[in-house]
Amino acid sequence: MIYLDNAATTKTAPEVLEEMLPYFTECYGNPSTIYAQGSAAKKAVNRARRIIADSIGAKMEEIYFTAGGSESDNWALKAAAEAAASKGRHIVTTKIEHHAILHTCEYLETRGFEITYLDVDKAGRVSPDSVRAVIRPDTILISIMFANNEIGTIEPIEEIGAIAKEKGILFHTDAVQAFGQIPVDVDSLHIDMLSASAHKLNGPKGIGFLYIRTGVKIRSFIHGGAQERSRRAGTENVPGIVGFGAAAQRAMTRMKKKAEKETALRNYLIERFEKEVPYCFLNGHRTERLPNNANLSFRFIEGESLLIMLDMKGICASSGSACTSGSLDPSHVLLAIGLKHEDAHGSLRITLSEENTMEEMDAVVEAVKEIVARLRAMSPLYEDFIKNRQTEK
Ligand SMILES: *Cc1c(COP(=O)(O)O)cnc(C)c1O
Repeated sequence: MIYLDNAATTKTAPEVLEEMLPYFTECYGNPSTIYAQGSAAKKAVNRARRIIADSIGAKMEEIYFTAGGSESDNWALKAAAEAAASKGRHIVTTKIEHHAILHTCEYLETRGFEITYLDVDKAGRVSPDSVRAVIRPDTILISIMFANNEIGTIEPIEEIGAIAKEKGILFHTDAVQAFGQIPVDVDSLHIDMLSASAHKLNGPKGIGFLYIRTGVKIRSFIHGGAQERSRRAGTENVPGIVGFGAAAQRAMTRMKKKAEKETALRNYLIERFEKEVPYCFLNGHRTERLPNNANLSFRFIEGESLLIMLDMKGICASSGSACTSGSLDPSHVLLAIGLKHEDAHGSLRITLSEENTMEEMDAVVEAVKEIVARLRAMSPLYEDFIKNRQTEK
């Protein structure tokens, strides 16, 4: 099997799992209790909190564990909007956010908030000037993702953060794809709230965090016990938190090497596709891009069919097309960067891990070349295109 869908989720690293196991069967006490077993669990939770806080330049008490990226995004938007509703009801985001943000914004619209969804350029970048241009006296929150999960484009977070700070508006970023892959520093980037999730960086599923800068006005999200400074109640997911800490530590120590390796594999892949497959093009920014992301459109084919045929060869990848995402609409991200519907349907997203090899890249290129040729041979669209081209000549 060749796994190339690391933006969807990653393998839990064996050393991460190893660190988690004792917290299921040996040190399983509730961190809120006072006997030794409970306090050992509490210590482990705070060790993980320390590691994560250090990894983004935050303070320990600014890290709140959640059940993942979607919960962190929901909390940041709903609870910050509610807390600031008396000041204003206008929120700024983009058209290329993850559904955890977009669907939360749609919910907030039903609660009387007004949302501006910013356009992006052809490479998927939000212009800081466009952020500045839409800010109004009643703007209370800006939420713009750090890096896009489909096309890998990295946003100008520092410039946007500076604008938010200058205008005194809260700035949240969904950093689920960025955290652990590229450096993130909440102070220099002027970030007030940040979402991340362990399973995107070789940690376990179902555990995430929301960074909330000290002084930010936000409501509690889950009411109950006093866990997470009374803002997110519920007995801590101790093994998950320990695993997140271990995954964050692991990601920070190997970030540079991992990025170098993945960038080399990614560039090789893009170069070979662009050279060897006619009528294909890269989606997203060529350099301001996550190290592990290659997203290409192959004209005249259905990404869906390509994925199924790749799967038959043991290759796991993703597409911005049809049923993979549970809907018939092409990806909102690919449409936002200006792709025609048919080109959005013909997209392939490959997201690498450091375990991938050059041999695997060669195997993938050969497989895609063969499948694309086969699908085009059956495509009436392609037939028409070739006919028209010949009559033009
Ligand atoms: C995966 C992802 C999420 C959701 O995270 P979960 O932990 O799966 O809930 C949110 N935003 C982005 C950008 C993602 O890639």
